[in-house]
Amino acid sequence: MDIQGIGMTSRRTRERLVTRLYEAGIKDPQVLEVIRQLPRHLFVDEALAHRAYEDTALPIGFNQTISQPYTVARMTEALLAAGPRKRVLEIGTGSGYQTAVLACLVAQTYSVERILPLQERARTRLQQLNLRNVHFKHADGGFGWAEKGPFDGIICAAAPEEIPEELLQQLAVGGRLIIPVGGASQELRQVDRIDEGQYRQQALEGARFVPLLSGSIR
Ligand code: SAH
Repeated sequence: MDIQGIGMTSRRTRERLVTRLYEAGIKDPQVLEVIRQLPRHLFVDEALAHRAYEDTALPIGFNQTISQPYTVARMTEALLAAGPRKRVLEIGTGSGYQTAVLACLVAQTYSVERILPLQERARTRLQQLNLRNVHFKHADGGFGWAEKGPFDGIICAAAPEEIPEELLQQLAVGGRLIIPVGGASQELRQVDRIDEGQYRQQALEGARFVPLLSGSIR
C-alpha cells in the first residue's frame, strides 16, 4: 500500500479505534481527539503499518513494543484527570507514540529512553509531526530526570518491581505518577503527591508492560 493509501484508510480505521476505546471506557474527549488525529502508523515499521489501528501492542525492535492504544489512552486519561499538566516526565520513549500524545496535551514533555536507536527514531518522528515541545534524554529513566524536575506528571511505560524513590521525589506536590508495578503479575498504579512527604496510592487495573531495565544501550 502506498503512503497516501495508508493515509486515506488510516482516517477511517482510526475512527474505528476511537470508537473501540470509547466502548472500552476511555471518556476524556481530549484524549480521544488526539488519538483520532495522530498517525500511529508512522510509529511502527512499514511492514506493520496496516495493523497500526488495531488495539494491540506491536513490536518496534530491540525486544520492545509500541504500547496498546488502550494503555496509552488509559494512562493519559488518568494523568489528566488530576487537572491540566504543564511539565510531564515520560520514562520509556519507545516508538514515541505516547510521547506524541502527551506533546499534544501538555505544555512540556521530558522523555527518557535507555535504548538510543529507539530514541533517535522517536525524535525524528516527532520532528516530522512538528511536535516541538518535547525534550529527550538517553539514560536509565529509573533515576528520572532530576535537573528538569519537579514534574506535575510522570508516566512510566515499563514496569519496575518497586516504584523508584527518585520518581517519587521528582513529583511536585499536586503531581501525579502513573506506573505499572510488578513482575509476572503487574498492576497499573496512580500515585498522588498530596504534600511534601505524603503520597496517596491507588491501583487502577491489571497490566502487562515490559520490565523497567537498568543501564542504557547505545
Ligand atoms: N509508550 C512506548 C512504550 C515502549 S515500551 C510506546 O508506545 O512506544 C517501553 C520502553 O521503555 C522501551 O522502549 C524500553 O526500552 C524502555 N525502558 C525500559 N526500561 C527503561 C529505563 N530504565 N529507562 C528508560 N527507558 C526504559
